[in-house]
Amino acid sequence: MQISEAQLKQVNRQVGRLISAGNFYGKRLKEAGIDQVATAEDFLALPFSAKEDLREAYPLGLMTCTEEEVVRIHSSSGTTGMPVIIPYTAKDVDDWGEMFKRCYEFAGVTKKDRIHITPGYGLWTAGIGFQNGCEKLGAMAIPMGPGNTQKQLQMMMDLKSTVLCATSSYALLLAEEIEKQGIRDKICLKKGVIGSERWGEKMRKRIADELGIELYDIYGLTEIYGPGIGINCRYETGMHYWDDYIYLEIIDPATGEVLPDGEWGEIVITTLVKEGAPLIRFRTHDMSRIIPGECPCGSRFPRLDVISGRSDDMMKIKGVNVFPKQIEEILGRFGELSSEYQIRISHLDGRDSMRIYVEASGSSDFKELQKKIAAEVKARIGFTPIVYVVELGFLPRSEKKTKRVIDERFQ
Ligand code: ZN
Repeated sequence: MQISEAQLKQVNRQVGRLISAGNFYGKRLKEAGIDQVATAEDFLALPFSAKEDLREAYPLGLMTCTEEEVVRIHSSSGTTGMPVIIPYTAKDVDDWGEMFKRCYEFAGVTKKDRIHITPGYGLWTAGIGFQNGCEKLGAMAIPMGPGNTQKQLQMMMDLKSTVLCATSSYALLLAEEIEKQGIRDKICLKKGVIGSERWGEKMRKRIADELGIELYDIYGLTEIYGPGIGINCRYETGMHYWDDYIYLEIIDPATGEVLPDGEWGEIVITTLVKEGAPLIRFRTHDMSRIIPGECPCGSRFPRLDVISGRSDDMMKIKGVNVFPKQIEEILGRFGELSSEYQIRISHLDGRDSMRIYVEASGSSDFKELQKKIAAEVKARIGFTPIVYVVELGFLPRSEKKTKRVIDERFQ
């Protein structure tokens, strides 16, 4: 999707502001001798930015406005190294709220809804993003935050929550608990707005069936406002994203070359109107594609396909490149399995090996099933994993994100 005239003007304004602020990207532009962006070709000559650049700017090096204008900061989790801090102006907070309100509207949520928000509140952008959009829409926010499942269920029944906001892991945990306690007829949920995790079709179907709700996937990342920059509509043909706030490209992660619409690659995002910390051509490492053509809903907003994985989560086993998504797809074909799995990579007897733990949903012959799964992985990907079938409920459930791939080689 080529950049439009209007978007170019917006980028040009951002470039000017970054150069005057003199932060890492402003300096990079100066070094490259770039002081304006007039054409689509000029845009493609702009350098990429990466998470490492943002880490190096810790704590407030990304600030592109005056400090008086900053009303809030958010931070991404620092699981690998330094955290990233993103300053927001009042307009940034407001724009984010508008985008999130649009997400709820695309999901058919209205003022009459009661929105049960389980993502965490605090430094990260999760809970407060869901909250802002809800208040802008005028619906009733029930700001639960994560954890204390029993209290969540009690509030859900007493307040008759109609919309559940959660990670897919927590939505599954709640669905299973509702089933276990036999309280489904006391639950009034109609829709789920699910964010921040890659999840398979199987898990999606289980949550939708067990709770009897419509599910909507929300997209976003802390570096670019937070969750709420895109969502699927009721036709479920990909996530519409808000191209009046962000410009999105898909690149080949190895070469950096921009790919045509329809091809899979890494998502790169440019913020068009952000004030506190604008980002130009930020590499997200999320893998997806832009879906060509129009959506049956008639919306003019372009669409992004599901996030198929991360460009940096590729595993190399016995010389074969594997993405977790490939394993998940194979497991999805086995009707005897639940949606939950865990992959462990270890170094044994001088070589790398993969163990896959899967849950059987019924009482099948575990040994037989193990053999079938291992053979299927060998046939489709090219190496034989060690497979363990375990009982339903054996694998850990999480209130946040479920860790599905555990690399034991570097521990
Ligand atoms: Zn649509």
